[in-house]
Amino acid sequence: MNIEIKYDGAKLLLPEIACDCGGTHAQPDMDIYIGKGVIENCAEYIQARVLGKNVVVVTDNIVYDIAGKRVEQLLRTNGYQVTLCKLEREEPLIPNEVGLGEILLTLDDTTDFLVAVGSGSITDLTRYVSYRTGKPFVCVGTAPSMDGYTSVIAPLTLGNLKVNKPADYPRVLICDLAIMAEAPYDMLMAGFGDVVGKYIAKADWTLGHIVNNEPICPACIDIVTQAVEKCIDNIEGIKNRTEAGIQSLIEGLILAGLTILIIGHTRPVASNEHGMAHYWEMMKLLRGEEPASHGISVGVATVYAIRFFEEFLDQPVNTLSLEKVQATRMLKEERDTIILEKYSPRIGEAILRDNPDEYLAWDEQKRRFQIIVDQFEAIRKELDFLPNTSEIIEMYQRVGAPYTAADIGIDTQLLEDALVYAKDYRNRYTVFKSANELGILGDVVNRVLTSR
Ligand SMILES: [Zn+2]
Ligand SMILES: [Zn+2]
Repeated sequence: MNIEIKYDGAKLLLPEIACDCGGTHAQPDMDIYIGKGVIENCAEYIQARVLGKNVVVVTDNIVYDIAGKRVEQLLRTNGYQVTLCKLEREEPLIPNEVGLGEILLTLDDTTDFLVAVGSGSITDLTRYVSYRTGKPFVCVGTAPSMDGYTSVIAPLTLGNLKVNKPADYPRVLICDLAIMAEAPYDMLMAGFGDVVGKYIAKADWTLGHIVNNEPICPACIDIVTQAVEKCIDNIEGIKNRTEAGIQSLIEGLILAGLTILIIGHTRPVASNEHGMAHYWEMMKLLRGEEPASHGISVGVATVYAIRFFEEFLDQPVNTLSLEKVQATRMLKEERDTIILEKYSPRIGEAILRDNPDEYLAWDEQKRRFQIIVDQFEAIRKELDFLPNTSEIIEMYQRVGAPYTAADIGIDTQLLEDALVYAKDYRNRYTVFKSANELGILGDVVNRVLTSR
């Protein structure tokens, strides 16, 4: 399968998905523009969608000077009635109930649509308000920092707790490369980490297909593969913030994000690396510490997940004893207790409630054990696309991204807990589960922690 990505001027032509995987493939109803200086055409792009005349522009005090003000001017000049919702913050903006309230209170009966000017937090707040009020929104993205511009989930914060809410994707997405190239470097590295993490998503999905006959979509696999390759091939350009480099990064993020809309779930873009990053984020918040940004954490977790694959695929699985695995496997009560302890009672209870069938009956574990042992050579071959640890570290060093847990304030205990318990966060099949079901999770984690 080879999906070709094309443009008509600055407009990204969404690929026609002719895939025979048997699943349904939605065609997202969205106009995406990527290019240098495209912000100047924002009114024209919006007019093409006939969204109405009364618009609320949502931005924050920092982005207002960079892009918000220009969007506001252009819309006014083109006959739009603009109400500005500028979220004034001295600290970094948190996408929480306060911001949501400010946006809601700016809307009134005459509001036709919203325009979010910003990156992750601004877009997530706006997409949730858009979804709840039924008013469409447009996004002018200002940093290539995450794959969520096209998302239908808004990761928000309520009190100190992360909540993922259903939300809407923008009708128009405008990515001006000149503005994105000026974003803080750690935002670029966050985007890089979020894209490179797709290696793990692809590997775990492939594994799930082999072990559990899970449906796999070659079109989506092809799209995420292209997304990762674009970034890897343009490391120098990203580092030097060239137009081609920034374009490869935002394109990679958008393409990866689009697969979620096409297939209707996040299997193509998120697996253990996201599970580990979420674990770190939750534990940091519980401790009252500030976690690293999403993509930065995903990027670091990806390095450990790659090392995990490497160690796992190196195991002599044909020497494992099924009887020993059965004799030493954990009881359901033990497992539940550990999840409550390692995730905190509040989050642990939600995990147990949402994944009631996660404790495998012995017959099922035995079946999976046998398939992995029998198919181990085939699995190794299918996962041959994964870079090895030294290659991935070399890439991170070249681009200047953090790659050790210590680099982002994760201590050894939190690293080990993420490697051992990220598998329990959701029911998605991953290599962490494979190792666990073969009774070698602890060994593999130890090897990951002690190798260099
Ligand atoms: Zn992500
Ligand atoms: Zn498909």
